[in-house]
Amino acid sequence: MTKVFASQADLQQKKVSFTRLSDNAYAYTAEGDPNTGVIIGDDAVMVIDTQATPVMAQDVIRHIRTVTDKPVKYVLMSHYHAVRVLGASAYAAQQVIPSQDTYDLIAERGAQDMQSEIERFPRLFQAVETIPGLTWPTLTFKGEMTLWLGKLEVKLLQLGRGHTKGDTVAWLPQQKILFSGDLVEFGATPYAGDAYFRNWPATLDNLAALQPAKLVPGRGVALTTPEMVRSGLAETRAFVSELYASVRAGAAAGKDLRTTYKETHAALKPKYGQWVIFDHCMPFNVTRALDEATQFPEPRIWTAARDKAMWESLES
Ligand SMILES: [Zn+2]
Repeated sequence: MTKVFASQADLQQKKVSFTRLSDNAYAYTAEGDPNTGVIIGDDAVMVIDTQATPVMAQDVIRHIRTVTDKPVKYVLMSHYHAVRVLGASAYAAQQVIPSQDTYDLIAERGAQDMQSEIERFPRLFQAVETIPGLTWPTLTFKGEMTLWLGKLEVKLLQLGRGHTKGDTVAWLPQQKILFSGDLVEFGATPYAGDAYFRNWPATLDNLAALQPAKLVPGRGVALTTPEMVRSGLAETRAFVSELYASVRAGAAAGKDLRTTYKETHAALKPKYGQWVIFDHCMPFNVTRALDEATQFPEPRIWTAARDKAMWESLES
């Protein structure tokens, strides 16, 4: 029997939390569904990742309006994935900002990614018909950019590749609060279908070097103490490293993808199997890891058809 594809069997609605980290920072989280970060400056609000559709983004806006009436002027895309960014139009922001690397990925593979993700996560694309198309940035940067929201300093930083080529974090240096996007997950499985396994651990070390006091991960609850931040970083690092080590061992022994997948899934399940979307992510993660360990340094483009063919070959 074939396991139901990706998250198509996941229909249980999650409970939303809107967690205050400081006067300026909030986290919109939902039991392992994709998070949205909120930064409230003196004169404007920045939203970090938008939710998957404009209708879903309206619920974020409702929560923002319980704490401020300042306008949402900025949307930051932590990376290009559809489930993070296709709700952007709801905010009517003045600027939609990703790294230049993320812009390049949208241009190269945004359309295929959109179709692929919509089919992977039907529940996370509520009112999918309200998506006006791809989210096109209005402003891009390379490496680092600083915005001043009045007296509040917001640094947008590319600290290395990991979850994707374009990963960007938002950092409030005055308050030591970090918004990590999918570079860090908590109680949720890191998706690595477009990842750089060789770089991801060092990138996490760069995040750790900031010594965040609080951190909003891509999925999972807001990490509100330095101890929680350290475990979020360490657990993500361990998962990525153990997965890649297992796949490299398979590749070195000349094993095929299906065998490497079964062995890696079995090796990681006892420790990580309770994390949200474990069974969804593992086939994509192992496929990408074996690509990287063999002949594809750059992630190959996922299409809805490639998704299904891969799933059939690994899960039937
Ligand atoms: Zn992602």
